[in-house]
Amino acid sequence: MKDRIMIGDLATHVGETVSICGWVDVRRDQGKMVFFDFRDRSGYVQGVVLPKSEAMEAAKELRNEYVVRVTGIVNARPEKNVQADKQNGSIELEITGIETLNAAETLPFEITGDTSGIDESVRLANRHLDLRSPRMQRNMKIRSEFVRRCREFLFSKDFTEIETPLLTESTPEGSRDFVVPSRLNPGKFYALPQSPQQYKQLLMTAGFERYFQTARAVRDEDLRADRGFEHTQIDVEMSFVEMEDVMQNIEAMITKVVEDMGFTIKEKPFPRISYKDAMEKYGADKFDLRTEEEKAQGILAYAWVVNFPFFEKTDDGKWTFTHNPFSMPIPEHVDWLMKGENIENILTTQYDIVCNGYESGGGSIRAHKPEILEATYKVMGYTKEEMEDRVGHMLDAFKYGTPPHGGIALGVERNIMNLTGETYLREVQAFPMTRGGQTSVMKAPKPLEKKQLDELGIAVKEQKKN
Ligand code: ASP
Repeated sequence: MKDRIMIGDLATHVGETVSICGWVDVRRDQGKMVFFDFRDRSGYVQGVVLPKSEAMEAAKELRNEYVVRVTGIVNARPEKNVQADKQNGSIELEITGIETLNAAETLPFEITGDTSGIDESVRLANRHLDLRSPRMQRNMKIRSEFVRRCREFLFSKDFTEIETPLLTESTPEGSRDFVVPSRLNPGKFYALPQSPQQYKQLLMTAGFERYFQTARAVRDEDLRADRGFEHTQIDVEMSFVEMEDVMQNIEAMITKVVEDMGFTIKEKPFPRISYKDAMEKYGADKFDLRTEEEKAQGILAYAWVVNFPFFEKTDDGKWTFTHNPFSMPIPEHVDWLMKGENIENILTTQYDIVCNGYESGGGSIRAHKPEILEATYKVMGYTKEEMEDRVGHMLDAFKYGTPPHGGIALGVERNIMNLTGETYLREVQAFPMTRGGQTSVMKAPKPLEKKQLDELGIAVKEQKKN
């Protein structure tokens, strides 16, 4: 709006008459005088309507969360009234005019403080209001800054940002797929991507050498505090690399990004530990290396975990992959894989990055020759035909000069949980699901109309009422 001054810049306008636009954060009516805190994206300022002011009538009408344009004189506060610890604590806006741009009913809950104590379903049904609260604003801004800085780093290293499809084929990543029916092909289904794994490898075949994407990944998993159906990955793939190249590049990116954001890293270079030693020492492949004091200081303790077993036994006694079927074994163990011997001892090139008790990313060097991927699927008991159906397109692509390659995906939410100290995934996503898998604000999942079902050729079985 014309002549709008941001609240965060007001201190440079002392003595001037200015206009701000924003929300009434708090209104304190003292009878003769009315005090306000106003809020815009840049911060907060106190305003006052003095006795006999022309703005008094309008001031009496305002309520919390009204959207206003306020005109006033920026006054320096007298020395004794300065609140040095508060933004704009040395100034006050002497209000001369108020224009209400939109009124607001009383909100369903208080948003001036921390909303984490509010009932989850109420918060998420009103997520657009919950997001106004200071903690949520901060979390979303930290998330945006983290992703922006990762992007900038990757661009500076000659990466190309490429989007991959959302409607794709069911992938063997290990979790359940979310599926989408096809109207044009009744009875057939797309799957939403669990990760861009295969596409990013195909982009290596395509010669881009350095790819990244801020990718959405969707998995139909049981919901937990640190896991939702949807999450975002900084997804990276590189050609002509070995484990060391990917790990060093990613470590350099994380270090630059979080240090530029003002965080402290406990140990550099990030310590490395084998899966075996981690299990012996911490009883898990994710662990928290911080002392109580370091936790209180918000320090970030990163570590790499390497030398994971490639395969593990399923409940029915077959072999399956522990992390990623597209991985390469460590160079010393390629021979065992090719011969199908010593399966339990084959280690994969997988590297996981752990931070403050969470697995915050993971990746590997990939099998880039058809015979290596075939050997992996053979160990897992696939016939030639089954292999062809599952990964035939990859086996085919690898025949046409696919370079050696590897990559990683960093979980954006997990990383932001570490940066903000949040323990719930939903605190770092704008519109998360409830624990019961309901969307915020919108009312999904819900039944389709008969006409839509008919078009898709779908008949829904009688559902039990819950
Ligand atoms: N596709 C893997 C995942 O989503 C990451 C990778 O190996 O790059 O976990």
